[in-house]
Amino acid sequence: MLQAKLVAPEKISLENVEIPTPGKNEVLIKVKVCGICGSDIHSYKGKHPFVHPPIVLGHEFSGVIHRVGGGVKNFSPGDRVVVEPNIVCGKCYNCLHGRYNICTNLKVIGCVGYDGAFSEYIVVPENKVLKLPDGISFDDAALVEPLAVAVHAVRKSGQKIGDRVLILGAGTIGLLTLQVANLAGAREVIITDLLSYRLEKAKNLGADKVINPELEDLVELIHKEYGKEGIDLIYDCVGIDKTISQAIQIARKGTRIMVVGVPEEKIRIDLSLIQDRELEIIGSLMYIREDFTEAIDLVQKEKIKADSLVTHHFKLKDIEKAFRLVTEGKEKVLKVLIQVTD
Ligand SMILES: [Zn+2]
Ligand SMILES: [Zn+2]
Repeated sequence: MLQAKLVAPEKISLENVEIPTPGKNEVLIKVKVCGICGSDIHSYKGKHPFVHPPIVLGHEFSGVIHRVGGGVKNFSPGDRVVVEPNIVCGKCYNCLHGRYNICTNLKVIGCVGYDGAFSEYIVVPENKVLKLPDGISFDDAALVEPLAVAVHAVRKSGQKIGDRVLILGAGTIGLLTLQVANLAGAREVIITDLLSYRLEKAKNLGADKVINPELEDLVELIHKEYGKEGIDLIYDCVGIDKTISQAIQIARKGTRIMVVGVPEEKIRIDLSLIQDRELEIIGSLMYIREDFTEAIDLVQKEKIKADSLVTHHFKLKDIEKAFRLVTEGKEKVLKVLIQVTD
């Protein structure tokens, strides 16, 4: 089978390897479609804090069960599936308290300690596999994972009906968070990005106001427009120095800030403002099963426009072109899907 392995920063090698055999409680999946995630791009550039090549990337995927191990009861060949890619120990404090997304011994398929789905076949534990309902295409199913990230962030934020919400960053996660925040009853959603085509997309997907902080003074504009009421809840879907400091400056007393984007480097924050304004800064990592099943449901019921985020398709053999397209930033890119097998 063909697999694309990241062997060094910005170097992917296409290799022909043996198709793996599933163990007792594992399944072998023929991968159909796998999306390129922001974190794959961090890894590709050699900037992901926890990813070290050589590794096969890819964790946003859909496929078909090809073979099952002897102990597998719930799946059989031909089942259409998606995979929740966090592999957890089930024994640590957080696993035992329902928060396995922050398992002490967390491995992530295609990211940390486990080869991913830019590969024609992949073996995964049965308990991380979910059947796809009829009517969801393999392309749409590849968006379930990033959608689960947004569902988890909104759930964890404790967003209330009628909250005024600000989202920093209109990439895939920002645009999915926008849609989920609206479904959760936001009074108003404001979203920022430096790229006008992304803001355009955000408007089409239900943003009430879009702001390009390169063209307008974001902090001033928000304070002027929303005065004392200000913003109830901020989702930082970028996670860089600039966006975190924007969030802290924009926050009124008592605002909650969700850190959803993966910071590439250490960021300094003004703790005096956190203390003085009783700000809450909360991290959000991946998802748990209920977020994942909710994401499948939202896609199936077409409450989320998954396909409208897809801008490009590539074959597995052209994966390096796909990564270069995203990193070069010359084209209008949102979600890029790799058609791994036909
Ligand atoms: Zn992802
Ligand atoms: Zn654990």
